[in-house]
Amino acid sequence: MECIFCGIVSGNIPSNKVYEDDWILAFNDLNPQAPVHILIITKKHIKSAKEIDIENSALIAHIFEVIAKIAKQLKLDNGFRVVTNCGDSAGQSVKHLHFHLMAGRDFSWPPG
Ligand code: AMP
Ligand code: ZN
Repeated sequence: MECIFCGIVSGNIPSNKVYEDDWILAFNDLNPQAPVHILIITKKHIKSAKEIDIENSALIAHIFEVIAKIAKQLKLDNGFRVVTNCGDSAGQSVKHLHFHLMAGRDFSWPPG
């Protein structure tokens, strides 16, 4: 079965896009956990944060540049949270590396 997020990259699965360039894509989470809940993914299939290495880490740096850009555009001036779940204990349900950008409410710490 095709990876859901690869399906979103190819256009086979619809998404509500927020940002796109040659390397990464950002779209609204289907099941938002905050008033703003955007997922930022690499177009290339990388399984999780565990697979980040010297060959692909520039993509991750680029993701954080785009997160800063989106945060400015959406005026997330009260703050935001960026999360990546890696592996089963962290609750990673889609095995294609993604960063959750959440804002619009207060977040507790420690997380659940
Ligand atoms: P995680 O549990 O960290 O792997 O996050 C996966 C996220 O993907 C969840 O927040 C889901 O709500 C979200 N999600 C799953 N399928 C879709 C989809 N087709 N479009 C947008 N978000 C999705
Ligand atoms: Zn994928």
